[in-house]
Amino acid sequence: MSSELRVIHSEILQCTKCELHRSRTKAVPGEGPHDASIMLVGEGPGQNEDEQGRPFVGTSGKYLTELLESIGVKRSDVFITNIVKCRPPNNRVPRKPEIEACNPYLQSQIRLINPRIVCALGTPAITTMMGDEYSASKFHGKSLTKGEVTILPMYHPAAALYNASLKETIFHDFQILKQLLESKDALNAAKNAESRGKKQTLEKWV
Ligand code: URA
Ligand code: SF4
Repeated sequence: MSSELRVIHSEILQCTKCELHRSRTKAVPGEGPHDASIMLVGEGPGQNEDEQGRPFVGTSGKYLTELLESIGVKRSDVFITNIVKCRPPNNRVPRKPEIEACNPYLQSQIRLINPRIVCALGTPAITTMMGDEYSASKFHGKSLTKGEVTILPMYHPAAALYNASLKETIFHDFQILKQLLESKDALNAAKNAESRGKKQTLEKWV
């Protein structure tokens, strides 16, 4: 982990910037490689996450791991975090002031990790990252590129877990993630080939 990211994560562990710090057991900064090309952003820690200090370790985490595997991606290769790092009591939806207080941490994580694709899981993560007019039901699977980062809104795995038709939808959205990865790979390969070509020309001229 980069040292700057380490500092931010230790700040999160001691943070008291919003009410959620009062009821948490452990804050959950997030985990994964500091140079991950995929970042997943969920809603907030649940009971298991709060107990263990790790994101997506309960039932929906297991399902998320399966969804990643269905497109050939290992969980250990992606960075996973949430819009709030402390568990909302009884798993209620995080409130606006809590999300706003916590958002600088997410922004720093995105800046330092610099992923190619950020998946926003569920409407609270989607509105936080894309704006209040967005939602999972209307925008799942429709990516938006902001600068170098592509944001892909998706349903939250917990919403899909017990709903057969949503399961199909989320499975399909992961296929879209796979396609995005492949097209970004192709783009990078083309860029590399182009710069190699330029270098060769230069070498000839020298
Ligand atoms: N649900 C979330 O949104 N985040 C977690 O970390 C676990 C479950
Ligand atoms: Fe701090 Fe975020 Fe936890 Fe609130 S949810 S106390 S802002 S780390």
